[in-house]
Amino acid sequence: MSAEKGVRERTSIDDLTSGVGRPPDRDQASRPAGAGAAVIACDRLVRIYSTAGIEVQALQGLDLVVGDGELTALVGASGSGKSTLLNILAGLDTPTAGQARVAGHDLLAMTARDRLAYRRSVVGFLWQQTSRNLFSHLTAAENVALPMRLARGRAQARGRARRGERALELLEMTGVGYCAGRMPAQMSGGEQQRVAIGIALANRPAVLLADEPTGELDSESADEVFAALRTANAELGVTVLVVTHDPQVSAQVRRTIAIRDGKISTEVLRRAAADGEADVAEEYSVLDRAGRLQIPRDFIESLGMRDRVRLALEPDHVGVWPDSPGQGVKNTNEEGE
Ligand code: ADP
Ligand code: MG
Repeated sequence: MSAEKGVRERTSIDDLTSGVGRPPDRDQASRPAGAGAAVIACDRLVRIYSTAGIEVQALQGLDLVVGDGELTALVGASGSGKSTLLNILAGLDTPTAGQARVAGHDLLAMTARDRLAYRRSVVGFLWQQTSRNLFSHLTAAENVALPMRLARGRAQARGRARRGERALELLEMTGVGYCAGRMPAQMSGGEQQRVAIGIALANRPAVLLADEPTGELDSESADEVFAALRTANAELGVTVLVVTHDPQVSAQVRRTIAIRDGKISTEVLRRAAADGEADVAEEYSVLDRAGRLQIPRDFIESLGMRDRVRLALEPDHVGVWPDSPGQGVKNTNEEGE
């Protein structure tokens, strides 16, 4: 990606995602100023399911950009589209419309062959159901080594001994080195999920996607699984997007994205405060490229807003008023309340 003179008005998805996702030779210089280059970029993503003549719009024009190396939580009510989004990003499902790129791969333009390679080496995926992540007839170490074997012929392919070595390293990193020789039935759910993180990381993916990975676990095991995700993010630099219902988890990440009715509605950004003080968390509404934003439901209800609102541009903010009969837009600077 060559630097252009002058300021670009809008960075395209291609610009954002080119040149990332190959961890060993990441090009720091190609990152836009101020942020890691986007490794995930969704633009007006739509997924419509049609079953028995009924259409469900699971994703309704979703925009999302996740920077390289971010650790992000995705929250939202059941049915809001979280799994649909993750399945698309994982290459397991295809969007109906819109654009989605992950680590430079256009998810709408991949052939079946590209898709297989993509699923093997570009993204790692963790299911909620522990049993779905591991082969029951293989030990933990064999489970982790398997994806490396399947990727043979590619750059990641390595000899049997090297694969075994790397499998052990990954199990140590996620805190379950002691499970290397155990079969899944001999491990707890939390241990199995930590092995599953090793499996997902085996081929050095750019992105690790986890769909409620702690949903079936007790809180202590959930903490250990989440700690393993954090370690993977910190030590390997892998971008992690984790769907969770656990407020404890979203309290531990810098960025929490909330999805509502198939769109991103709000984001909470957390900044580390000075020593000894609590982190600062701030909630943002998401402004899409067309200028639309979603006003939180409780704000709307408390002011009885519906159908339309009045807007006024103030020096440093925008005022939003309910459309009550006989009430004009007040200029707060002159008239007050
Ligand atoms: P979440 O993971 O946030 O609970 P999902 O992404 O699973 O939500 O589902 C979003 C919406 O799409 C829901 O209304 C759900 O019923 C619907 N949906 C999900 N998968 C399918 C499918 N395979 N066929 C039809 N509808 C589906
Ligand atoms: Mg789901």
